Amino acid sequence: MLASLGTLPELARQLSGLGGCTHPVRLDGHRTEYAVDTTTGEVGRVLHHLDSAALPAGNLLVRCNNRRATRCAACAEVYRRDTYHLITAGLRGGKGTPEQVGAHPRVFATFTAPSFGPVHNRPSSGRPCRCGIRHDDTDPALGTPLTPDTYDYEAAVLWNAHAGALWRRFSIYLRREVAKLAGLTQRAFRDHARISFAKVAEYQKRGAVHFHAVIRLDGPEGGDTSPPAWATAELLSDAIHAAATAARVSGPTVDGRAHNFTFGRQLDVRPIRSSDFDDGQELTERAVAAYIAKYATKGAETATGTLDRPIRFVAELAQARITDHARRMIRTAWTLGARPELADLRLRAWAHMLGFRGHFSTKSRRYSTTLGALRDARAEWRRAQALAANETDPDTTLVLAHWVYAGTGLTDAEAWLAETLEPAPGTEGEPTHG
Ligand SMILES: [Zn+2]
Ligand SMILES: [Zn+2]
Repeated sequence: MLASLGTLPELARQLSGLGGCTHPVRLDGHRTEYAVDTTTGEVGRVLHHLDSAALPAGNLLVRCNNRRATRCAACAEVYRRDTYHLITAGLRGGKGTPEQVGAHPRVFATFTAPSFGPVHNRPSSGRPCRCGIRHDDTDPALGTPLTPDTYDYEAAVLWNAHAGALWRRFSIYLRREVAKLAGLTQRAFRDHARISFAKVAEYQKRGAVHFHAVIRLDGPEGGDTSPPAWATAELLSDAIHAAATAARVSGPTVDGRAHNFTFGRQLDVRPIRSSDFDDGQELTERAVAAYIAKYATKGAETATGTLDRPIRFVAELAQARITDHARRMIRTAWTLGARPELADLRLRAWAHMLGFRGHFSTKSRRYSTTLGALRDARAEWRRAQALAANETDPDTTLVLAHWVYAGTGLTDAEAWLAETLEPAPGTEGEPTHG
């Protein structure tokens, strides 16, 4: 139990600064701020000294910032909100992005993987699955192969491993297709328009990565400039269809079989309307941002029931409580990962991600602000609060700090105390959008 009840309020204050993070990083070390004479540059008195040994928890505790809801609910929530703001800024402006982007052509597009064999599903016709059963939407069999022995696990894992490269190929082709439809050469295109995007990767139940993307057409200088008259959501949709159909990445040859990767035929492209015109039917900015943000905090483990961290030995799979389908996907990645010719795919390190090693959410530079900028803004706000309390000025302060990693997580007593605390301010009082 707690060493001394006398330290309880101080420990509670330290823990509340974590904003509910349950797996903080623990650091040992110290940080000293000295006053600096602005005219002579001379280092003067100590303004502030922090020694981790003197802290109530015995260490400095820093939020884990894990994106995965299964790993840290509190930090994943911060990530979700940041992603929401990032997507929203690209759709209607704000956080440094001009408001006029709300009038530019935007679409929400979903790119899927091709088929690797028939899976249990719920046909939209209302007919039963090919296995004869009418699966309800919570049936864990959904998305798993009808006949696992003939399901193309090798192609399924390798497709995930090449999904990022396929997206890059698509984005190059997209510029080409938009230019073609506008009657411009690729070189001339740059003087007329820019394409920007934000995307998230999500796993389908069958363990294949698919992408959701907001794609926007701007003027030649990005969001600040009006797109040309020919730039419409319809033209953008047509170009996306053409580019996604043409995109192809040649993969490795495994046991004499040459792999090639394309997107699946299921491609959904829908214009995004401004929420001002929402009549309940249209896909609105708000719905798109909420959807993308929600999926940004999910990994393969949520949809497919696989593991949320890397495996070190294939023997771990036997004990893991995962579906047989996920186990076969991981085992396939692990086995392929032993081949020297596939070394650059790092399939063993990414086996728990079913081969996908890309970023979960990415965006082009001109889309909107960045997660880093949002984090910096938050850190800056906290520093300003601390300065207001301490009355120190960063321009005339020298900071010497040294920190070493001392572990992760909370002790049982800290976890118990943290649970009784309300989330702290500084985790942002932004509204939660469903
Ligand atoms: Zn955390
Ligand atoms: Zn079925």
